[in-house]
Amino acid sequence: MTSPVSSRIHLSEDGPECSRFVAGWWRLRDWSLTRSQTIELLEHYLSLGVTTMDHADIYGGYECESLFGAVLSESSVDREALQIISKCGIALMDDARPQHQVKHYQTSKAHIIASVERSLKNLACEYLDVLLIHRPDPMMQADEVAEAFESLRRDGKVRDFGVSNFTPSQYELLQSRWDAPLVTNQIEISPLATAAMTDGSLDHCQQRRIRPMAWSCLGGGRLLIAPEFEGVRKQLESLLEAVGATSLEQLIYAWVLKLPSQPLPIIGSGKKERITSAVQAQALEMNRQQWFEILECVTGEEVA
Ligand code: NAP
Repeated sequence: MTSPVSSRIHLSEDGPECSRFVAGWWRLRDWSLTRSQTIELLEHYLSLGVTTMDHADIYGGYECESLFGAVLSESSVDREALQIISKCGIALMDDARPQHQVKHYQTSKAHIIASVERSLKNLACEYLDVLLIHRPDPMMQADEVAEAFESLRRDGKVRDFGVSNFTPSQYELLQSRWDAPLVTNQIEISPLATAAMTDGSLDHCQQRRIRPMAWSCLGGGRLLIAPEFEGVRKQLESLLEAVGATSLEQLIYAWVLKLPSQPLPIIGSGKKERITSAVQAQALEMNRQQWFEILECVTGEEVA
């Protein structure tokens, strides 16, 4: 296979243009990379046309954003060439936040603004391209979130806003109070996590003409390594040749890309060769029956 380059796609009709594949930095701290190795990883992504970076305030015990920011400052990478996405709204029990007595959600105006300001400092950036509310918060006051968005937009700190793990009605509630279109819903999508296909989330994305971002497409790696999926892997391997895939992860990424809501898969690997292999999934042809074969193989059930 030739060296791939990620295509580009708008998150929503007038929303920001992103690379179809997104670099996920959740596990950055776990990779224990040196700064120069992290720069190499970032440059590798860019060489593949992957310019969209997914972060959250909480990643790596609140450390990943600053690890990334240090690398961005040290590298010759132009910030303007990137689309930086971050999230807020989850409050972890962590040494970095000794004031938290319980894991909770926090979507007050003051918290959202303070969290973005911290993210910008950590990421060494002047603005975020997109801010997502990380999880639906049962205590969310939609008017207050919209006020926070307005303040961040007015101050040039965030360009566009979206949500993550929201149901369609939670999304619509927030949208009803916010004067600009929310640009995405970042949700879990994989053959192991198919709820978004039946609970209305992906229908809602098509209806709203927004593209979902897909997290944990490989089930956090479980699909590729967990002993309970050994039989599934054997069956999937028998499908590789028919779609021209060279690895199981490629097959799965091609499966996610086929969804009509046009998800942007977020790559979670810290390994350059796996990242290249993921982006190559774009070139694969997968017909409808092959798509259903993969679904049946992983879920263990034929559709009704
Ligand atoms: P994933 O791709 O499902 O899992 C990545 C893990 O799989 C890594 O540990 C990787 O290890 C492993 N892996 C990949 N290929 C493998 C192979 N062939 N054999 C063995 N292991 C393999 O994605 P994810 O990391 O769970 O999620 C991706 C991104 O989505 C995150 O970085 C984050 O940005 C975002 N996310 C968002 C939410 C949300 O609520 N919005 C939640 C979770 C994640 P190696 O590094 O060794 O390749």
